[in-house]
Parts: sequence; structure tokens; C-alpha cells
Amino acid sequence: MEFEEFAARAAEIEAETADLEIERLVAALLADANDDLAVLARFVQGRVFPAWDSRTLDIGPQLCYEAIARAAGTNVTAADVEERLAERGEIGEVAASYEFGGQQGLAAFGEGTDALTVSEVDEELRTLAAASGSGSQERKLDALFGLFNRCSPEEARYLSRLVLSEMRIGVGSGTVRDAIGDAFDVPPEAVERALQVSNDYGLVAEIAREAGESGLSELSLEIGRPVQAMLAQTGTVVDAIEDWREVAAEWKFDGARVQIHYTREEDGVSIYSRNMEEVTDALPEVVAFVEEHLDESAILDGEVVAVDDDGAPLPFQEVLRRFRRKHDVERAREETELRLYAFDCLHAAGEDLLDAPLEERYERLSALLSAGVSERWLTDDPDEIAGIEGEALEAGHEGLMLKNPDSTYSPGRRGRNWRKRKPDVETLDLVVTGAEWGEGRRATFLGSFLLSVATESGFETIGKVATGITDEKLAELTELLDPHVLAEEGRNVEIRPEVVFEVGYEEIQRSPTYESGYALRFPRFLGVRDDKDPEDADSLSRVRDLYGGEG
Ligand code: AMP
Repeated sequence: MEFEEFAARAAEIEAETADLEIERLVAALLADANDDLAVLARFVQGRVFPAWDSRTLDIGPQLCYEAIARAAGTNVTAADVEERLAERGEIGEVAASYEFGGQQGLAAFGEGTDALTVSEVDEELRTLAAASGSGSQERKLDALFGLFNRCSPEEARYLSRLVLSEMRIGVGSGTVRDAIGDAFDVPPEAVERALQVSNDYGLVAEIAREAGESGLSELSLEIGRPVQAMLAQTGTVVDAIEDWREVAAEWKFDGARVQIHYTREEDGVSIYSRNMEEVTDALPEVVAFVEEHLDESAILDGEVVAVDDDGAPLPFQEVLRRFRRKHDVERAREETELRLYAFDCLHAAGEDLLDAPLEERYERLSALLSAGVSERWLTDDPDEIAGIEGEALEAGHEGLMLKNPDSTYSPGRRGRNWRKRKPDVETLDLVVTGAEWGEGRRATFLGSFLLSVATESGFETIGKVATGITDEKLAELTELLDPHVLAEEGRNVEIRPEVVFEVGYEEIQRSPTYESGYALRFPRFLGVRDDKDPEDADSLSRVRDLYGGEG
């Protein structure tokens, strides 16, 4: 297809406002694309490379203005182009306002007078993207000038937008997905799945045309071609247990997401960031770790965390700094140690696992990777989950992730199957008025604590907190409360109201179980309020207000 025709079609699409009509026009463009199908499926979205591909054109606005100025004539400068841009607000409009063509220059040699074709533009931009090293900016400028020099105003409009990756013709990824379905008569879900697996509109369009729905369904993950990461919504433990009964609980690490691709045959590791950029070279110790501990071809999902000399996590900015590091990687490696926590497995030994339940994927992961697998607990017990969160926080990590053990892996989705626990909106300072001795290994510690709110006439119970934290902490609390024990009966201990705990919770509910008439859902011990006397603890009327406020 000639580039002129692509420009005309793009203009037609841009002028259209109705979504359905836009989709029809894109479908028609794809149906007429012949050999240019893959390229056009990307160009309409302002892309030269597929989303998984880390290559970029690396053409900054300034270079583009320069190329336009040069093609526009000897008396036009990049500053003039910028000035027009300030007036007209959009680069396509500016590029289309010049007359190109008369200029001679290095890149205008050869086929200078022929009409530009879509494939020629694509090739030229790919060559230009590959330019690196000294003088590469100059070579890019020459090449881009050469292209503009052969453009009509309409072609220049869309070329300038394409090189700056801002097509702005109202075509989003969903439009192209549906257009591929329409153009080649395949269901949009089949296109969607193929896109999730490949992140390549060009490839998917070609397969849809050549091999239809069955061809699309055969498309599988490929090592070296990253997929979008599955994402999480916020949620509560209470809801998660209600929705799934059993919850897969994991620590939430505050680092950077990584997707690790490994081929056994080549002992080759590549690592991608959350937005599918390749970061392999910046993380040599993670590469070495994977080479040592993985011996089957696989795609893994996880988090990389920077740690200090004692293994305690550092703020996530430290990892991001490493991601961006291009030079002196070895020195950076000595400065900050990185640790991998792998939590998912998308592909193992030639088998795609996207559709396998989380629990199966985790089993595969544990079997494949001999170290660096993030721990996971399968439980329906809120106290146990509170303990897991307490340990995560104590170890310096961010908190808790809750996952549906039966869920499949949905790339790019911020769905309900992965939830990060919502931070508490409020905490309460409550008085300890009772406790219970632990069992088994913990028989010498108080293991759960009865909590009360202050009322006008004294204290009324509102819930229990089973700290579930370390034995060390329980021993400390036992010692702290020991002088205040009033009476004991079996495992139950009555305690004089002296000590105040800060307690986190997800929800307050009405409950006949406790004297106050309220109970806390997912109560957690956060700390001792040494600075507070029992009279300063939160009152029943505050609890009433908070309950009312939750509506
Ligand atoms: P957020 O960035 O706040 O939406 O939280 C989701 C992010 O938490 C993910 O993209 C991961 O980078 C990170 N994360 C940390 N620990 C885990 C985990 N155990 N499972 C999944 N994601 C995790």
C-alpha cells in the first residue's frame, strides 16, 4: 500500500466520531492491507514495534522538528517549527502546513521521486531505530529528513505523529482488536486471548487472516516475548475469605516487578520490567541467580527487592535506580544487593500455564526453582492471615497480597483475583481486659487478648486479638501483662485494665458476642501504647461514630 493511501485512510478515520464507524473503517483498512497487514495493524495505533518489543525509535520531538525544518526549506528552522506548534497545538497539523520535496541531501538520493510505500516507511523507521553509537542522532536526522522530503502534506501529518508515537486518530487497542475480529471473521475473545499471549497486533492480525480462530488458539507464549503482568486491586481479608473461602496469602514486596524468561538449551536468561522493557543487563546478579537455580525452560513472574547488608528491604527506588543503570552496573551491584522473590510461573518446559489455577502454577514454580520462591500460605483463618501480615511488616515488607487459589493468570488485568490488602483507614487504642494462654509450643505465653473500649462507667469488651506475631513478641507481652493478672480459670485470664494496645481492623460490625455490642473484623495487634492510660483509650462513642461513618 502506498503511504499516501494510508494517510488518506487515517484522515478518514480521524474525521469520524462514532466508535462503530471507526472500527468499521479500521476493519476495512486491515482487510485491504495485503502484504502490509502486520505493519498497518501497528501503524494505526502509532506503533512501529509490537508492545513486547523493547526497541524504540528513540526520536525526540527536537529531532523531529529538525527533520521537518530541513525538508521544509533552507529558510525554515526547528525554532520556526516549534513556533508553529505553539500556535497550532499539534505536530501533524504543523507538518502538513509545509511544502516538502525540493530539498537535496544525503538521504534524498536514490528513489527520491517514487511514491513512499507503507513497507518502505516501516523499513526505514526500523533501520533508523537500530542506529546507535556516535553520530547516530545525525544519521537518524538524515533518514527522517529523507522521509519527510518525499511526503505530501497529508503524508507528513501522519508520519510526524507516527514517529512521535502519538497517532491521535481515535483508534485504541480495543478498536483494533474488534476490527481484526470483523475483518477476518473471528470472535473478539479469540483475538483478545491471542493478544494477551503475544502482545503483537501485527502477528495476531496475520494469524487471524491466514488461520482463523483455530490458528489464534494455537498461538502460545514464547520465551523472549514478554507478556503483560497480572495486576491487583485493593481488597479486604474479610471479603477475600468470604469470596473464596480459602485464600492464598503472600507477602507484598516493595520492589520492582520482573518477568524472567529462561531457555535451558541456551542457558539464556532475559528479564523484563512491568511494562515489558528488557532490563536484563541491569540485573546481572538476578541473571546469575536464575542460571544457578532454574534448570528448565520457563517464564516466571516475581518481584526484585533491594536489601541492605542484613537482608532488610530498602525502599523500591533503589531497585528502580538499578533498572535505569546503563553504566557501571558492576559497581552498582556492589552497592546494593538485589533479591528475587518469584511468585508465579506462566510457562514451564514447553507448556503454557496461563489457564492453570494459581495453586498449580505455584506448585510448578516451587518444583522448578530451587531458591527464591516467595512463601505462600493457603488458609481460611483470619488470625493466621493477620500473623502473616504482621511478619511481613516486621520483616520490613509492604504488607499482604491475597490471591484466589483457583484463578487463572490474566495478563494486564487489574481483576478481583489478586488483591492487595487495603491499608487501615483508622486504628483503635483499646484496653486489654483479658487474655488466654496459648497452646502447644506456645503454652507458656498469652496467645490471645481480650480488648475493651472505655465507657462512662468502665470498660466493655469489643473483640479479641490473637497477635500471631513472633514468639518473642508474645513473650514480651506476657511479661508486660503479668503484673496485672487478676484471676485465672483454665486457659482464661482476667486482667486489670492497665495496658493499651493499638489495634488495626478492616470493619466494625454490630455483634451480640461482646459487651459493647460491636465487634472488629480482622483485628490486628499493631503495638503497645506505652504513652496512654486506660482512660485515654478509645471510647464506645468513638466506635459508634466510626460504625456510623462506615454507613
Ligand atoms: P500496586 O503496584 O500497588 O498495584 O501493587 C501490585 C504490585 O505489587 C505488583 O505489580 C507487584 O509488583 C507487587 N508485588 C509485591 N509482592 C507481590 C506478590 N506477592 N504478588 C504479586 N505482586 C506483588
